Amino acid sequence: MTFTITPHASPVSTQAREKTLEDPGFGRVFTDHMVTLRWSTDRGWHDGKVTARAPLAIDPACAVLHYAQEIFEGMKAYRTATGEIVLFRPEMNATRFARSAERLAMPILPESLFIQAVEELVRIDKHWVPSGAGSLYLRPFMFASEAFLGVRPAQEYIFCVIACPVGPYFKGGDKPLKLWVSDQYTRAAPGGTGAAKCGGNYAASLIAQAEATEHGCDQVVFLDAAEHRWIEELGGMNLFFVMNDGSIVTPPLTGTILPGITRTSVIEIARELGMTVSEAPYALEQWRADAQSGKLSEAFACGTAAVIASIGEIVSSSGSFRLNKAHESPVAKKLKEQLVGIQRGSVADSR
Ligand code: PMP
Repeated sequence: MTFTITPHASPVSTQAREKTLEDPGFGRVFTDHMVTLRWSTDRGWHDGKVTARAPLAIDPACAVLHYAQEIFEGMKAYRTATGEIVLFRPEMNATRFARSAERLAMPILPESLFIQAVEELVRIDKHWVPSGAGSLYLRPFMFASEAFLGVRPAQEYIFCVIACPVGPYFKGGDKPLKLWVSDQYTRAAPGGTGAAKCGGNYAASLIAQAEATEHGCDQVVFLDAAEHRWIEELGGMNLFFVMNDGSIVTPPLTGTILPGITRTSVIEIARELGMTVSEAPYALEQWRADAQSGKLSEAFACGTAAVIASIGEIVSSSGSFRLNKAHESPVAKKLKEQLVGIQRGSVADSR
């Protein structure tokens, strides 16, 4: 598809942009442009545009505002040491976006078009990709834009890509994470939308995240909805457990957790480095027992935003426990080094 490109008439000045890039924070400052694409039952995908980033005009009866038919992705563009701009495995985000669309009864955006749209935005806003430790966070999303209050899959959609330069996700930098185990709220039930990246999952998780913040924690650990026993994932990251024999366990993809791109990459990298990784259920009580007996040597969370972050403390209504050597976490450090190297082009990607 050819996108009509209309560059911003008055983009942010070079000086203001460079000042912003020194400390962009996370998710509050955006680049100059956006990409939009429309879909309707009669025309399919059409009207691809690259324009100045601006508010979207939507009808108050727009289906997404009532029935939350919305999906999104999160991915990053990095500047390599030689100044080249690279995306990390964008085809995996394109595939996950298509799976999310399927689950939410939305039209499938061909993977090549997803990647093309993302690349158009990165190309026009290339000066917004930070060098050094920062990156450009890309947010492709799609929502039901049809003005109709009947409950059925909408017949019109808008796909859009926006971007923001970002620094580290957690304010504490490399400080081990403190997690809150939610015993009251679950994120996803069997047959639900847990494996899809849809806005509704996040809306439903906010109350548990607020509870985590009240308890001085960084993120929520969600347990399975049926037994409230098995560890699933965090509000925005997948989990890994490293045993003292070097083996690694991560919860399996049974349909209730998000299949993280970082999760898949970590599994592949760990196996390449000769580690044994199993995708197997792991219970909260086992986590506590293994932490206390010393069988567990590390636990870490991973996702696009924070990459890999080690876990230092778990707080729950049934008692708290610590992972005393979280500051060391040699396995998490090694995996992070390798992954960041691939993302930033200093380590060859074996894929
Ligand atoms: N789980 C949830 C619920 C998430 O929101 C994310 C972030 N997308 C992840 C896991 C990690 O996924 P990824 O590695 O693709 O960023």
